[in-house]
Amino acid sequence: MTTDTPILYIVVPCFNEQEALPGSHERLINLMHEMKSQDLIATGSKLLYIDDGSRDDTWQLIDELAAGSSEVAGVKLACNSGHQNALMAGLSQAVEHCDITVSIDADLQDDINVIPTMVERYKQGCDIVFGVRRERKSDSWFKRTTAGMFYKLMNRLGVDTINNHADFRLMSRRAVLALLDYKERNLFIRGIVTKLGYKTDCVYYDRSARMAGESKYPLRKMVNFAIDGITSFSVKPVRLVMQVGLLFLIIALIMLAYVLTAYFMGRAVSGWPSLILSVWLVGAFVLIGLGIIGEYVGKIYTEVKNRPRYNVDTTVGLNSEEEQ
Ligand code: UDP
Ligand code: MG
Repeated sequence: MTTDTPILYIVVPCFNEQEALPGSHERLINLMHEMKSQDLIATGSKLLYIDDGSRDDTWQLIDELAAGSSEVAGVKLACNSGHQNALMAGLSQAVEHCDITVSIDADLQDDINVIPTMVERYKQGCDIVFGVRRERKSDSWFKRTTAGMFYKLMNRLGVDTINNHADFRLMSRRAVLALLDYKERNLFIRGIVTKLGYKTDCVYYDRSARMAGESKYPLRKMVNFAIDGITSFSVKPVRLVMQVGLLFLIIALIMLAYVLTAYFMGRAVSGWPSLILSVWLVGAFVLIGLGIIGEYVGKIYTEVKNRPRYNVDTTVGLNSEEEQ
């Protein structure tokens, strides 16, 4: 892999984007030409559009663009598989042909003018460069607050994400290959990339409004995405069940002391002590039992995800034949 003039593939997932695509393409291709003329990226660099099973004319558009230019390529998924899967599909195709990838949404809400800076950072030795939004004025109040709450909750639960970073990022070839080693089905890519361990950096920009068309992330998809993000990375909710169980056990013990005093002072109505103690004790044992089962289910879950155990950064003294 050479780092002087890398081949760049810009990967763009598109779902029903016929309104936004022509404008976005125009801007992306201009940027591409500019970067090529500055020798920032190699001439073999391309735009790669992934049609995520669109029901409008998105694929026809991509097809025409690809037919008209060797700088455009397209992949059509057989049916709508979701943004994260479409992105994975694109990255896995791109990685075979390029040194670096930049992923960006088709509506270009993220500022494409920071892409050259991302490439510069790559040349300085970064494997992953995150695009981070400085502020979200252009998003609706609702989207801003829910997103803010989501990032906070994720961090509380111990999931490593970069605040205000969506899926606008540069990844080197080896970072993409490492990402592709995560074979899980419930994908939350931005949680995985922070785990890869390679050298990373952030570039900041202001997020603008969607160029055309409507958001393809209705509330339902957003909630599902958030649940995926949490449950794919954190066993804390299970631990919480266990903790509530233990809390109930403590309450049961307090109740025991209370019941005993009441009993000896002759204030206990007959039948009440056994009843009240059973309620708390049974509750505590049920929750603790669920917590224990949850721990095992959590272990099984991490096993079936089959994630790679480690990720090698550099080696010395190995492959001596190759080096000579
Ligand atoms: N997208 C996709 N498949 C889907 C939903 C969305 O490929 O099922 C793409 C969409 O075309 C866009 C990106 O994912 O390029 C982000 O979607 P959008 O901009 O609508 O999300 P928002 O910015 O509103 O969160
Ligand atoms: Mg958008």
